[in-house]
Amino acid sequence: MLYSEIADVFDRLEVTSSRLEMTSILSGFFKDLDPGSLRNVVYLSQGMLHPDFYGAELGMADKLVLRSVAFISGVSESRMDELWKKEGDPGKIAEYLLQNRKQVSLFSEPLTLGKVLRNLTLIENAEGRDSQDKKMKYLSNLLMDSSPVEARYLCRIVTGRMRIGAGSMTMLDALAEAFGTKEDRPDIERAFNITCDLGLVAEVLAGGGVEAVRKMKVTVGNPIKVMLAERLPSIPLILDRMDGRCAMEFKYDGIRVQAHISKDSVKLYSRRMEDLTSNFPDIAAELRKQCKAGTAIIEGECVAVDPEGGMLPFQNVTHRRKKHGMDKAIEDYPVRIFMFDILLADDEDMTVRPFEERRAKLEGIFDVSEKVQFTTMATVSAPEEGEAFFSLALGKKCEGIMAKSLSQESIYRAGSRGFLWIKYKKDYEEALTDSFDLTVVGAFYGRGKRAGKYGALLMAVFDEDSGHYCTVCKLGTGFDDAFLAGLPDMLDKYLSEGRPHMVDAEMMPDVWFLPTVVLEVVAAEISLSPIHTAARNIVKEDAGLGLRFPRFTGRVRDDKGPEECMTANEVLSMYEMQAQDKE
Ligand code: ATP
Repeated sequence: MLYSEIADVFDRLEVTSSRLEMTSILSGFFKDLDPGSLRNVVYLSQGMLHPDFYGAELGMADKLVLRSVAFISGVSESRMDELWKKEGDPGKIAEYLLQNRKQVSLFSEPLTLGKVLRNLTLIENAEGRDSQDKKMKYLSNLLMDSSPVEARYLCRIVTGRMRIGAGSMTMLDALAEAFGTKEDRPDIERAFNITCDLGLVAEVLAGGGVEAVRKMKVTVGNPIKVMLAERLPSIPLILDRMDGRCAMEFKYDGIRVQAHISKDSVKLYSRRMEDLTSNFPDIAAELRKQCKAGTAIIEGECVAVDPEGGMLPFQNVTHRRKKHGMDKAIEDYPVRIFMFDILLADDEDMTVRPFEERRAKLEGIFDVSEKVQFTTMATVSAPEEGEAFFSLALGKKCEGIMAKSLSQESIYRAGSRGFLWIKYKKDYEEALTDSFDLTVVGAFYGRGKRAGKYGALLMAVFDEDSGHYCTVCKLGTGFDDAFLAGLPDMLDKYLSEGRPHMVDAEMMPDVWFLPTVVLEVVAAEISLSPIHTAARNIVKEDAGLGLRFPRFTGRVRDDKGPEECMTANEVLSMYEMQAQDKE
């Protein structure tokens, strides 16, 4: 298959912001692909060669890509610098220079998908002292045969800038439209939620139809999208919602880990499907030791503890995210895992079992040790019992409690946030709400001391219905000097020329970013806003919801991607919760 057909689809997607139109472009294209090619096209459309959780990155530095582009287009280094300063996107530069290329090699051949995959794989695997030269060679070899549009996407893929605006939800819509019906969409989404592999789901669907997708199972090695909790402002309300009786567990403040345990190996994944095994090798080994089953997938929270075993705040466990000096970090920052769920036990899919059965299974197949423990849990059927348990949790330095439904419907809902789990935190007692995890979509230059630097950020939530990012606040408080100075390093790779089409905004920042970085923010109140676009026209015509007095907490949520940041619907339900509170 020709790569030009794929680049053409990317190009058409990039100029539309309508999710319906994207779906129809993609489904029309997907229908005619063979299952194997479809799988690869799906990965490429997300800027990858594999699913996210493989952790393999093409990761070519911008400079290296620019050198390849300069080489094949014959422009000088100084001209390249000029273009780089103006454009800041190697894809755009490559496209521009190839449009103006005087002559194309006589030996040039149309690029095929096969050749693109081969060379990208070589780039990914290049190792050793001359790895940079090799990467340049493989990329130049592709660019030689590229049209300007093909070059734009190749350069974006290798530098990790591939954002055509079709997120995983749009891809699932398109797959359902191409190979099934609207009614099949939930089954296709479930397959994605239990495998985290959109390419695999697409291949199975194109090969065996929806029936084959329904048979896909939870497996060790494929991370499962995590189940998430709703929030309510008081313990009596939680009990009401849970029909008067529920389980309560301590809510630990650490890093959520999903452990995939097989006979002789253990892999730990973050909730963003990053491989965390090398950050917690001691926990991985101990889980294998204490697990009596051959295979299991469990979830728990990794928390840093002091020498007496007392819980330490979240920041302490992040020391384990270092790349070097792990042996010392293990000694200096002891960690425990508190297990709270089991999703697979000896090849049996536990996600379809109610909570109580899962908990019994978890307790049945693990022995506890100092490092591997279960979350503290109690069954609660009266508000006073709940309040007492909450105080106990705070006394042990936990964030609050997690209430869990004991009903027969309380299965593990991969990838969904619902009232089967309800969180209640200390913050809810003091301020109006929970903290907000928001994604950065723009920045404003500062004044005075902050002149010439980013002084404030435009922050957005994810709107699951439209697949867009909608603004909720301009954030200029809570930053210290060091954080502000580091902002260009953190954000400039995601600079966008103009407003990215997946961002809905009326406010105009000085620069725009592709939604990528997620920051934790607290606020005094959620209010109706004439300028912000979150939940627009829902509570009131021509008004959205915005945050009053937002402040950065200092926590960068690098465990969350933009699609995992807070959703517009969550902000809306928090607004409603706040309104009830005031009544
Ligand atoms: P938060 O920022 O409040 O942790 P979140 O958006 O990351 O919220 P939620 O579903 O809202 O996720 O809250 C559940 C999170 O709490 C889990 O992702 C997990 O990391 C953590 N957690 C701590 N203790 C427990 C527990 N006993 N059961 C489930 N999750 C727990």
